[in-house]
Amino acid sequence: MAIAEYAPTRIGENAGARDELRRNGTHHDPHSPDENERANGSQSPSRNGVPTDLSALRLAVSRPMSREEARPANRVLAGLPFDCWARISPHLKRCLIFSGQVLHESGERAGRIYFPNSGLISLVKHQGRHQIEVAMAGRETFLSALCVLQNHDVSPLRVIAQTPGTAFWLPQNVLRQEFERDSLIRGLVLQHAAWLMEQMAQSALCCCAHTVEERLSRWLLNARDRLNSDEICVTHAAIAQMLGVRRSGVTMTLCAFAQQGLLRTARGRILIENAAGLEQRACSCREALYSPSQKLSTL
Ligand SMILES: [Zn+2]
Repeated sequence: MAIAEYAPTRIGENAGARDELRRNGTHHDPHSPDENERANGSQSPSRNGVPTDLSALRLAVSRPMSREEARPANRVLAGLPFDCWARISPHLKRCLIFSGQVLHESGERAGRIYFPNSGLISLVKHQGRHQIEVAMAGRETFLSALCVLQNHDVSPLRVIAQTPGTAFWLPQNVLRQEFERDSLIRGLVLQHAAWLMEQMAQSALCCCAHTVEERLSRWLLNARDRLNSDEICVTHAAIAQMLGVRRSGVTMTLCAFAQQGLLRTARGRILIENAAGLEQRACSCREALYSPSQKLSTL
């Protein structure tokens, strides 16, 4: 099997997308201070993860809350009990995620835990110029729990955004404090880690046992579920990198799917027109690699 070459895009390199977002008035620099920090001049002090600066709390309560703040689209945040949300929310910061942005680099410190509200994110194992997706993630989860389980906050995987989106992020040390004090957060983190191990095992099996057509069908459907859209804005090259196959193989298979009326393709864009048809062609990993949301929501 041929493994595609990979050229990662760092934060800040996707200037075109950022400029477009600026023109639309929706740009938020992920490195700029949060609104709370700008208002207070510094991050709120805390004791065991509990904010002690009453002025910060008053400000948070007094200022109008956006729809996103009032009800995060991220299912983990949306499912938190009130007391847990009250402790964590003052530390959350909003950011935009750009296509190709590396949120965590493997082997490097991951100071932020991301809670995606939208977009499609891949967890990738890479070595040199080779890489393969070991798990797909979206608003149903957070990234990455493995950093919290270790004594150091080094990410074992590369975490890369496939499509633009929005997210909240939390300083890694805040989540670690919550992990140590709150059994619910501990359960969420451990369950996420168990889910990730399951995803990695299933991905290894899928890579060895199933055809490009089966795997591509499965990947498109799982991406569609996470984006909640029939339109998937990714390139053939990006899909090939995630599946660990040649780009020509992806292009040929997509052309065949298009001839069968399953989808349409344009530059950097795939529109699924017959999801049921793709379901029939997807490998049996479809369900196993679908979503951890059901498991996480039962905590
Ligand atoms: Zn499979």
